[in-house]
Amino acid sequence: MRYAGWTSVVEPSATLTVVARVRQKVEAGVKVFNFGAGEPDFPTPKVIRDAAHKAIEEGKTRYTPAAGIPQLRQAFAERVNSLYGVDVDGENVVVTVGAKQALYAALRAVCEPNMEVIVPTPCWVTYPEMVKLAGGVPVLVETKAENGYVLDVEAIESAVTERTCAVIVNSPNNPTGAVYGREVLEGVVELARRHNLAVISDEVYDRLILEEGLEHTTLFALGRERVFSAFSCSKTYAMTGWRLGFGVGNKEWVRYCERLLAQSTSNACSVSQYAALAALLEGDEDAARMRREFIRRRNLMCRLLDKAGMRYVRPQGTFFLLLDVRDWIGGRSAGGMEIKDDETFAEALLEEASVAVVPGSPFHAAGRVRLSFACSQEDIEAGIASLVRFVESIRR
Ligand code: PLP
Repeated sequence: MRYAGWTSVVEPSATLTVVARVRQKVEAGVKVFNFGAGEPDFPTPKVIRDAAHKAIEEGKTRYTPAAGIPQLRQAFAERVNSLYGVDVDGENVVVTVGAKQALYAALRAVCEPNMEVIVPTPCWVTYPEMVKLAGGVPVLVETKAENGYVLDVEAIESAVTERTCAVIVNSPNNPTGAVYGREVLEGVVELARRHNLAVISDEVYDRLILEEGLEHTTLFALGRERVFSAFSCSKTYAMTGWRLGFGVGNKEWVRYCERLLAQSTSNACSVSQYAALAALLEGDEDAARMRREFIRRRNLMCRLLDKAGMRYVRPQGTFFLLLDVRDWIGGRSAGGMEIKDDETFAEALLEEASVAVVPGSPFHAAGRVRLSFACSQEDIEAGIASLVRFVESIRR
């Protein structure tokens, strides 16, 4: 049998591979300090779970409109209006199977075959693959640790060609933890206007800004005629498995997304939609509590890494930190493993120190590994101690 060409060019998810290896170790009875997780470790808050039970009991288990139930679209529009000072209604909102589907649908609506999409790196592993799935060509533009991984608008502009159709922006950023200021975001929108480009803005960590004094700016507010912003319940309300996200864009773009959903998956799970409604109306105290805990964990992890003299850029948002491991590349671990790159570093660290991290290469951050602080403070203390012992044992 012959399979389509994309099956050999689209990569499997690197983060899911780490999850599988950690699971194997845990099942074998090994205690693993898991800094590999890409999701909050908290249970979904009770008000949200209760709303889901109620929806099931009330029989809200049938198909809904493809773009979501009107109450939820409206509630999310009101949320965006009140948080970010815009003026949208439910027709500007599409409810999706996680932000992932919103991003993909938005991309499909603007990307013709062989058109180029600019992806600043380091980036979430999915963007380049998603662009390929949409028939496009990802064009990677590097952001640098020396500049706090903030977007370089000039570098993006020099990557624009007559085939460029869109730019993907992600702030707060996975994996760097960088939060872009308003000025940078305005620069991106102006550049998009100059070259008639679409901007797809991934804002799933909008409620997870960890730095005092920083605020989230939604790109949609800066250029509503050409920006599509994706949001999610996944990280804000610890609802990753419920698969519930939102896209906000101009009504035409949202209608194209709706058409794609209607002819592929139909609506996001009906029960999850009612749960999300409860999250928006009653879940913000829980969200704030989880965010405060992420701030404490971030501070703890940074303190421990600072004490050990490790190199990284302090994350301003998300629950991720990119650790520079280039000093140990070329060495050999106490267990005799050769550290050739960030991938072998991560492998040896898991095997010999029971610390799970995700290698940076799949995020286009070679020489780095991503540490997640979506785990307990006890695990952060013990896991960083184990990491430090591991690197001290590496011989050149
Ligand atoms: N965007 C980024 C940057 C992410 O890190 C993730 C999940 O890890 C997603 C999107 C996916 O979000 P969702 O669960 O809403 O599909």
